[in-house]
Amino acid sequence: MKTATWDYSRAAILTTINLPGTLVSSEGQGPTGDIAADEGLGATFDFFEQIFDRNLIDNSEMLLTATVHFGKDYNNAFRNSVQMFFGDGDGQIFNRFTIALDVIGHELAHGVTEDESRL
Ligand SMILES: [Zn+2]
Repeated sequence: MKTATWDYSRAAILTTINLPGTLVSSEGQGPTGDIAADEGLGATFDFFEQIFDRNLIDNSEMLLTATVHFGKDYNNAFRNSVQMFFGDGDGQIFNRFTIALDVIGHELAHGVTEDESRL
């Protein structure tokens, strides 16, 4: 297993007005100050690397592209054929989707499945 520690900003994490949005963080950069970009994406990517021994950057850079603050009060997260999207939630039923590592892992796993099995 690789033991390298990845900075949590190694992915292209974007904040959006027009998709995919404005680049706020990319590989090798530190925290952005935007909690949605900083709080869980990097930790999830580290988990895939360290526990599953998957270097997603080498496998497919696009797997790690995420847009945060998607929509307005958007109550969901999803992945299309290109990248992941995370809403901030409406604050009533849902909080930010970037706060939940299991949600991020779920969306990332969609990308792995698509990339490797072509489903
Ligand atoms: Zn799903």
